[in-house]
Amino acid sequence: MLLGAIADDFTGATDLCSMLVRGGMRTVQVIGVPQAGQPVPDVDAVVVALKSRTAPVKQAVDESLAALAWLRDAGARQFFFKYCSTFDSTEQGNIGPVADALVAALGCGFALACPAFPTNGRTIYQGHLFVGSVLLNESGMENHPLTPMTDANLVRVLSRQTDGTVGLVPFVTVDQGAAATRDAMTRLKEQGRRYAIVDAITDAHLFAIGEAAAGHALLTGGSGIAIGLGANFRKAGLLPERADSAALPNIDGPRAVVAGSCSRATLAQLGFARDHLPVLDLDPLATPDAATMSATALSWAGDKLGDKPVVIAASAPPEKVAALQAKLGREQAGALVEETLARIAEGLVARGVRQLVVAGGETSGAVVGRLGVRSLRIGAEIDPGVPWTCAAGSGPDLLLALKSGNFGATDFFVKAFRILAD
Ligand code: ADP
Repeated sequence: MLLGAIADDFTGATDLCSMLVRGGMRTVQVIGVPQAGQPVPDVDAVVVALKSRTAPVKQAVDESLAALAWLRDAGARQFFFKYCSTFDSTEQGNIGPVADALVAALGCGFALACPAFPTNGRTIYQGHLFVGSVLLNESGMENHPLTPMTDANLVRVLSRQTDGTVGLVPFVTVDQGAAATRDAMTRLKEQGRRYAIVDAITDAHLFAIGEAAAGHALLTGGSGIAIGLGANFRKAGLLPERADSAALPNIDGPRAVVAGSCSRATLAQLGFARDHLPVLDLDPLATPDAATMSATALSWAGDKLGDKPVVIAASAPPEKVAALQAKLGREQAGALVEETLARIAEGLVARGVRQLVVAGGETSGAVVGRLGVRSLRIGAEIDPGVPWTCAAGSGPDLLLALKSGNFGATDFFVKAFRILAD
């Protein structure tokens, strides 16, 4: 293993994995802190997905350190702390405290911090984070329910979360390339700075920063900054040219989609799927019972499995969601549907399904938990940000695609299986 990464949430981890695979590194995402003795996958990079973004500070630090210890034991040469490209955190953390703990544990004294992801509109200029054309604190992130970002100056934001000091490598330096960026970071470290926020406006900047940090024990940032890491390892003779970094094993079997996202994109994707695949719409308002709904759905799927992919959806337009929430309460409604879909996914796998698409972030969490998935080997992307993966854990290995609600083109549910067949 060359790179060992710790991500502060699940979908962020997958995002980083996809970036590494694109950079020619075979990558596995591990869910939660691996147990001591959990076998080390034979890959170039492992990303440990935590749920530490909004956890209590101590828990976030402890889990991150436990993940680091496992990655070190597994032989990783360089470490990466992945957080959101909008620097999602509170005054208390968790980016600062976790980074402090990792810097201390590695004894490296310094780490760069760069959440920039120009492809997604996240750029940093003079230490200020922009989302599209507006500052972070005017992007809507100032109203985030858990991590409101009310200051776009990342030097200030990170300074409030650490007892170390924070410097800046400005645009004019980064724009000169890797050598100038490396020298600037070395100077900041010599001046006693623990962190450098590094400006980046284009992918060329990210490549330069990645190259400049080739000798760093720890990098921190969004997935964008990982864009050049594969090239670093190749240059050092540690990573061969791999044409097969996204290769997954062939796993044949019945195919299914389970959808719990009510996002606009998913509703449109279901609309498209209705013209091509058998679709069952659950009606939690009429039958607010997970056992009954899942039994009905599994018996509906029964004789269809093995033919075309089957689609089972709880997804509904806002007025239907509101009706269920009015009846059960918001949390109960979500929990009921998640429990139902997780049971359905479990039943489908028990009936032989080996290629499964799950739509919805929370829904994916519920399904992965229920299936006992421990790790995901990352394959090729179906659409940006949604790769096929090979899931392994307590059940049989299967091909699993976990789609964030708003991701994917309209033909996603059809295209996903076509890609596997090709
Ligand atoms: P997304 O990625 O689009 O945000 P999530 O799975 O994260 O999707 O969130 C969708 C939430 O909506 C889940 O908690 C799911 O259980 C809930 N949900 C799905 N269908 C319904 C429905 N018909 N009524 C009420 N809540 C629903």
